[in-house]
Amino acid sequence: MTATATQLKTFTHFIDGQKTPATGEQHQDIYNPATGQVTGQLRLASEQDINKTVAAAQKAAEEWSQTSLTKRTKILFSMREQLVARTDELAEAITAEQGKVLDDSKGEIGRALEAVEYACGIVDQLKGDYSAQIATGVDTFSVREPLGVIAGITPFNFPAMVPMWMAPLAIATGNAFILKPSERAPSASLILAELWQAAGLPDGVFNVLQGDKVAVDGLLTHPDVNAVSFIGSTPIAQYIHDTATAHGKRVQALGGAKNHAVVLPDADIDTAADLLNTAAFGAAGERCMAISVAVAAGDAADALADKLRERTNNVVVADGMNTNADMGPLITSAAKERVERIIGEAEADGATLVADGRDLSVKGNEEGFFVGPTVIDHAQTDMSAYQEEIFGPVLVIVRVANLDEAIQVINENPYGNGTSIFTSTGAFARKFQRSVNVGMVGVNIPIPVPAAWHSFGGWNDSRFGDLGVNGADGVSFGTRKKVITQRWPEPTHVSDASFNFPSHS
Ligand code: NAD
Repeated sequence: MTATATQLKTFTHFIDGQKTPATGEQHQDIYNPATGQVTGQLRLASEQDINKTVAAAQKAAEEWSQTSLTKRTKILFSMREQLVARTDELAEAITAEQGKVLDDSKGEIGRALEAVEYACGIVDQLKGDYSAQIATGVDTFSVREPLGVIAGITPFNFPAMVPMWMAPLAIATGNAFILKPSERAPSASLILAELWQAAGLPDGVFNVLQGDKVAVDGLLTHPDVNAVSFIGSTPIAQYIHDTATAHGKRVQALGGAKNHAVVLPDADIDTAADLLNTAAFGAAGERCMAISVAVAAGDAADALADKLRERTNNVVVADGMNTNADMGPLITSAAKERVERIIGEAEADGATLVADGRDLSVKGNEEGFFVGPTVIDHAQTDMSAYQEEIFGPVLVIVRVANLDEAIQVINENPYGNGTSIFTSTGAFARKFQRSVNVGMVGVNIPIPVPAAWHSFGGWNDSRFGDLGVNGADGVSFGTRKKVITQRWPEPTHVSDASFNFPSHS
């Protein structure tokens, strides 16, 4: 069903502090995935819009890079307050376009907040090194200087958190930032722009460019964009990395995932089933850190499959605006069709469906893009359900004999974003943690997303470029080091003595 033209929400760019209409030829429908209805229309960027945005950001970056650390920090503290004050509104905007349940939308804003809070301490991160008297009268020190303009290209599944894993540190380190949000969930980007403005950020330091591949390619090749942060699927991450580096830019590009959780027979299987149920089906599995494969060792497999069957029966699938909902819809009807196709292929290839979420009808939301929680047991690693990143509410169980086999399965998978192990034996956990070729590891923790003062990023096909986002990696990404070696003659007299307490502003 389509809403009438008069009801459709429209969107703009945010350039140089102004909501600026897009001038591209193309439009994109925006859906409420819970109702299946078109709720808005997004006009996409033209070449002219891209150039205008980059020019505004480049101009703002010059002055912003010279703004004192104390002034920058005050704005970041204020941004924190803005984000807290408008959490409910932002969460509703996310749920209305992305589909995840409201509490989960608030959860992602909580993670965004953590990233802003880390950036509030930027003064500590930018202190640099100092070696006094490396030769007689000679000192050497290093400082971190901003790059200029950083573009952030983000996925649909975290419309607030992912942009806020990029922008706060890019801005705190003295750069201007251009957000190219997902063209499927644009509302959050404009709320974030309003928040930055209300926090006192000068015009042009945070910009939003609405668009698709045209906008992305324009940013990747623009001579005045200095660095590109990307989070999205693996093929696009690789494309972004290759194209932007070929154009001389610094790139961090995080890709897709297939996250395995190993369940050993000595684990508390009830707890493991509870946690895997939430880690696989929360946000309808549309999380890059969702657990999508349970690697069940020995006796753990039968017990785990039984307990997952019970748990999935109790998952409430509904419109994310409904406060009782555990899980909402998928992002598009195409995503629903694809997930259902993969479940069907697994069944046809001989896997067992412990729970089957196809043909789910949600009362009152019959047109929504819902798939129920699905558990596929006895999956083989050559099945599409194992090989593809499903990005839906599907948990695949791969049965193995022991921990060594489990580690082998994980290390043969091309992705390496997150993984976890459920066990009550420290030695098994330690062996696992040391042996898996995966960037983020949980021990009895299903979704090991590190706190924002650690860096986030997978290995292998889950990341292109050596730096992750957040933490020290985020600071390194936004800056380049300059090393100064200097000698000064002895001063003859000091003329700036003052009785006032020294101020830094
Ligand atoms: P996507 O790769 O389709 O899109 C991400 C961004 O790239 C969007 O802004 C989109 O406009 C742009 N884009 C898409 N196709 C493009 C093309 N051909 N050329 C240039 N730009 C293009 O990803 P998505 O579907 O929005 O998000 C889901 C994916 O993101 C999943 O694979 C998920 O695992 C991944 N993801 C990864 C992380 C992580 O931290 N590793 C976090 C969240 C999501």
